[in-house]
Amino acid sequence: MSRTLLADGLLYDGSGSRPYPADILIEDSRILQVEPAGKVVFAGAEVKKLSGLSVSPGWIDPHAHSDASLLAAPEAFGKISQGITTEISGNCGLSAFPIMTEEVREHLRVLYSSYDLKPEWTDFRSYAAELAARHPAINAVFLCGHNTLRANAAGYRQQELTPTQLEYMNTLLAETLSQGACGLSTGLLYTPGCFADENELLALLRTTADHDGVYATHLRSEGDRLEEAVREAVSLAERSGAALQISHLKTALPRNWHKLESVLSMIQAARQRGVSIHADRYPYTFSQTSLSIVLDRPYDKMTDRAIREVLQNDPSAYDQALRQLKDSGRDWNRVILSRSGASAASGLIGLTAAEAAKRAGKTPPELVMEILREDAPGSLAAFGGMSEDNLKQILKLEWVCCGTDETARPADESLGRSHPRGFGSFPVFIRMLGNEGLSMEQIIRKITSLPAGIFRLTDRGLIRPGKNADLVVFQEEELDSQADFHSPHRPAKGIRSVYVNGVPAYDGLSQKVITRAGRIAGMEKLQ
Ligand SMILES: [Zn+2]
Repeated sequence: MSRTLLADGLLYDGSGSRPYPADILIEDSRILQVEPAGKVVFAGAEVKKLSGLSVSPGWIDPHAHSDASLLAAPEAFGKISQGITTEISGNCGLSAFPIMTEEVREHLRVLYSSYDLKPEWTDFRSYAAELAARHPAINAVFLCGHNTLRANAAGYRQQELTPTQLEYMNTLLAETLSQGACGLSTGLLYTPGCFADENELLALLRTTADHDGVYATHLRSEGDRLEEAVREAVSLAERSGAALQISHLKTALPRNWHKLESVLSMIQAARQRGVSIHADRYPYTFSQTSLSIVLDRPYDKMTDRAIREVLQNDPSAYDQALRQLKDSGRDWNRVILSRSGASAASGLIGLTAAEAAKRAGKTPPELVMEILREDAPGSLAAFGGMSEDNLKQILKLEWVCCGTDETARPADESLGRSHPRGFGSFPVFIRMLGNEGLSMEQIIRKITSLPAGIFRLTDRGLIRPGKNADLVVFQEEELDSQADFHSPHRPAKGIRSVYVNGVPAYDGLSQKVITRAGRIAGMEKLQ
């Protein structure tokens, strides 16, 4: 048994109540006692003085994509160095499990090829065991991805499900949820999720609701059909009884910015009817996704591997796609090349497509097409098309939390280059909302007890006796992100130490992960 006393830190307990100087006694992995500073003498505890510093529950990232990266880089440096102690992965329809067919296994192997991983697991249980063996530094919770689920039943091509296939998906989902996954995610913009109709989703969501799971959705559209997409998500949640989490809520493209008002009133009205609806958002106006989304039909319904295949083997399709791209009228100053294994992109990462093309002596469409032909699956870009005002309005809502939408990355760029949100989201979120007039205790609630409540993490998100001792010690005035598109891996400043399950896990002064003490949701069911 070990006891540590964190003495005299300014305590934000996660509930949103006013902070006060407090002593927190930790015994092993849990919080044993919380008292006003100096009121009680705790004999036999190792004392750490936090005078002049603030302490809060560990920050929770409800929108992560670390399914593969946590296996490859379990120190989760980009996450823990910005104060994150728990993340929810398996978002946007993509989870690394279940794997019941060789087609899915091969698909994930190629998708995760930059991580040098061989996915040898099958169900959630065997995936979680594999991850536990790598000892991640932060706690990991997982959603079951609808795309992966559907691919197990019907592959990656467009097709309507037979009743047997749908029943199989439902059985797999129920099994995954009972093994400890926290809900279902969809990515209705991606293949094969985009082929799902309402009946399919409703059936799966009823199963999700039966297991008290959350429905996290990357909407079918975040721009031109945003209102229809939100209506679909709300209606599915209302009819199935599953709690809805709207992923990275945004209004993509300037022509859709005005839709925020009607979207929010639709959500508020449903909340008033008693539908459980929350959302997350990263605090940036550039999003990062596959570079291939610049291509129009038929590529919007194809996987990146299939796109590469066509562009490499069909010169006339290549020329036609190039013409289409030239005619698209896209503003290449709003596209930043952020990751690619293509030789055509070498030396150009971090630049806008406009600048990069100029340096390469090509037009932006020519350069982009060459990159996609070489490495569509490994090429990412950041796209600017979001409104700063809408961003702030969304982040301020009391039912919206901060999500990184990012994989856990090492400090170096050995696993590729991250979006700066992978290292800076939470400090940026705190700063932005502070400037908008929210109090620190309100902001801390939105990154602790709010996401813990949404994802039913009953023993995290608050500093209370009996809860797990996930804690962030920080210097409020210093707290800030140092990551940008030029240097996206610079760790946040102002984070002094991070505790995970009672163990000092990250030291902010040396910027080192000291211990990897994270736990995996569902693992307790293995014991
Ligand atoms: Zn997404």
